[in-house]
Order: sequence, then structure tokens, then C-alpha cells
Amino acid sequence: MARVFNFSAGPSVLPEVVLKQAADEMLDYKGSGMSVMEMSHRSKVYDNIIKEAEKDLRDLMDIPDNYKVLFLQGGASQQFAAIPMNLMKNGVADYIITGQWAKKACEEAKKYGKVNVVASSADKTFSYIPDCSDLPISEDADYVYICHNNTIYGTTYKKLPNTKGKILVADMSSDILSQPVNVSDYGLIYFGVQKNVGPAGVVIVIIREDLIRDDVPTYCPTMLKYKTQADNDSLYNTPPCYGIYICGLVFKWVKEMGGLSAMKIHNEKKAAILYDFLDSSKMFRGTVVKEDRSLMNVPFVTGNEELDAKFVKEATAAGFVNLKGHRTVGGMRASIYNAMPIEGVEKLVAFMKDFEEKNS
Ligand code: PLP
Repeated sequence: MARVFNFSAGPSVLPEVVLKQAADEMLDYKGSGMSVMEMSHRSKVYDNIIKEAEKDLRDLMDIPDNYKVLFLQGGASQQFAAIPMNLMKNGVADYIITGQWAKKACEEAKKYGKVNVVASSADKTFSYIPDCSDLPISEDADYVYICHNNTIYGTTYKKLPNTKGKILVADMSSDILSQPVNVSDYGLIYFGVQKNVGPAGVVIVIIREDLIRDDVPTYCPTMLKYKTQADNDSLYNTPPCYGIYICGLVFKWVKEMGGLSAMKIHNEKKAAILYDFLDSSKMFRGTVVKEDRSLMNVPFVTGNEELDAKFVKEATAAGFVNLKGHRTVGGMRASIYNAMPIEGVEKLVAFMKDFEEKNS
């Protein structure tokens, strides 16, 4: 078996032990005589799977009892519409634009109400997080929206915005479970699972109960109404059963790794290996301001497009795959999610050093 070091931004590397366990259980899940894929979502055995997944996520993130956890489908992008439809009571929301994903969410929200952009880092290609200590928060804003980790640009919030008492909503698709989170700081956290947690398509929403309303606009599809999903424990219709099962296995793996504090140490160690090299290299450099660097996504360039392409080609041949930067940024990006082993980053840096020596 030849597994590569997969630096994809998503879908991305999952823990090998999880994939092996899923393979072992593929034909006969715990004596049920069938795969989880073949199981009724109303069966006792599946009920245990989804309940245990929720319990493990609650334990990991220390989710307070007054928050619901919803296992949904449609990916993170579906939430760009679901959030305004469910949370806009006054029809107003404030968005902070730190990259393409926040921008897309903002554009979608404009279909449902008045949206104010209260800060943006578009002026410098989203290479930093704007100062959010004193934003022009709208008096009647139903929520303030952020993308907590910017997958494409490689920036992250080190300090949460001052929302002046308004509800904070965060897209944590690309940094969920990478470090501890104080859930109470947020009204709603959501994440597409395909980076740190499981197969694409599943999206998990953690929402404070008092924000779950019945009086959403009549045009809001039943499936996108959080109350429908909350009232039915995410089983209003057939959920993405197999995907949720894999998420559950990953939650157990994160617990075995020592939980979110241990994960943070592990991720800081990995990121430091790469950032320290970028800071010392004469060929490669990181593209974002140091203070706002992400632990998960590390974009870098040589400053020469041809050399970038040569690097990506040679790295791929050497087993370091998916290092090409996002099409809007160019250069390279190494996504080093939870399941990327330290060894993968060490070997990548050794490869980069060698490439630099040979091409200088
Ligand atoms: N939000 C962030 C931060 C992302 O990185 C992505 C995808 O990469 C998305 C949203 C969109 O996710 P999906 O493809 O599941 O809709």
C-alpha cells in the first residue's frame, strides 16, 4: 500500500486508523450482518451511531446543554442560505469579509435581507484579518458573521471580533477540532466536515437553542429550517448515514489523541516546522501576515510562477500531492489538517530544502 502525503485543502487526509476501521466494518458492522451504508436510519443500531457521534462531539467541544447539534447535508455552502433564513429576525446582518467563503456567504445572505460589510481584507488579497476591536456593528443586526479560518488564504482569527453584544456566527469548516473552542462565544458554529472530520456532504451545525425559531419566512424550505431538524434529532429525512458514522469514528480518534488541547499542541508543532522554514528560506515565502497565520492552511510562493509549477510537479512525483495553490491565489498551499502526521510536514520541508538547494 502506497499512501501519499496528501496536502489537499479538502476533501483531505483522514486518520489511517479510521479508514482501516471503516474498511474492517464495511461488510458487517458490529455483528449486524450489514454495512452502515445499508442500515435503516431508524434502526436501533444506527440510532446508537448518531447518538454516540453527537455525544463524542459534545464531549470534545464541551458543548453546553443549551446548544443543539444538527447533522445535516448540503455541505457548508447550503448554510450560506440557511443561516440568514433562520436567524434574520430583523432582516439585518453584518458580515466580515476575509476571503472567498465569507464573500460567498455574504452574497447569499443578501437575497434574504439587508447585509452590511463591517470589515474586509479584500484590499490586500485577504492576506490578513482586519482589526475587529471597534466595528460599525449595525444596531439592529441579527448576527455578525465570520469565516473563522480562511482555507484559501491561510489566515485565522486569533481574537474574536467585538460584536458589541450581537450574536456571532462562524464558519469553522477548515479548523474545527483543531484547537479548543469556547462554544458559548457563538450563537451558531457550523462546519462542512470534509477537512478535519469526514466525507464531504455532511455539515454540522451547533446552535444555541433560543435561536431556533418557528417563525422563519414561509419561503424557507422545510429541510433548511433548523427547527425541523432540531425537533427530529437530525432524522427528519434520511440523513447522510455513512458520512455521519465516519464523523463519529473521527471524533473517537480525536478523543484518543487527547482531545482538542492536545490537538492544538500537535497542530502548532506541525505548523511551526513549516512556518520556521518559510521564514528562513531564500526561495519560498509565506503569503500572509505572521500574526494571522492559520494552523491548518499554509500558502506560500517562490515569487516565480515557473518555479512554482516546477516545484508542484516535482513534489507530486515525490509523493507530496495537492500542493498547488487555489486558482485565485496561485503558488502553493499546504493544508496540514489534524490527520496530517508530523512526519508528513518534516518530509515536505526536507523536500523543499533540497529543491531550494538544487534550484538556487
Ligand atoms: N467554508 C469554508 C471555510 C471552506 O473551506 C469551504 C470549502 O472548502 C466551504 C465553506 C464550502 O464547503 P462545501 O463545499 O461543503 O459547500
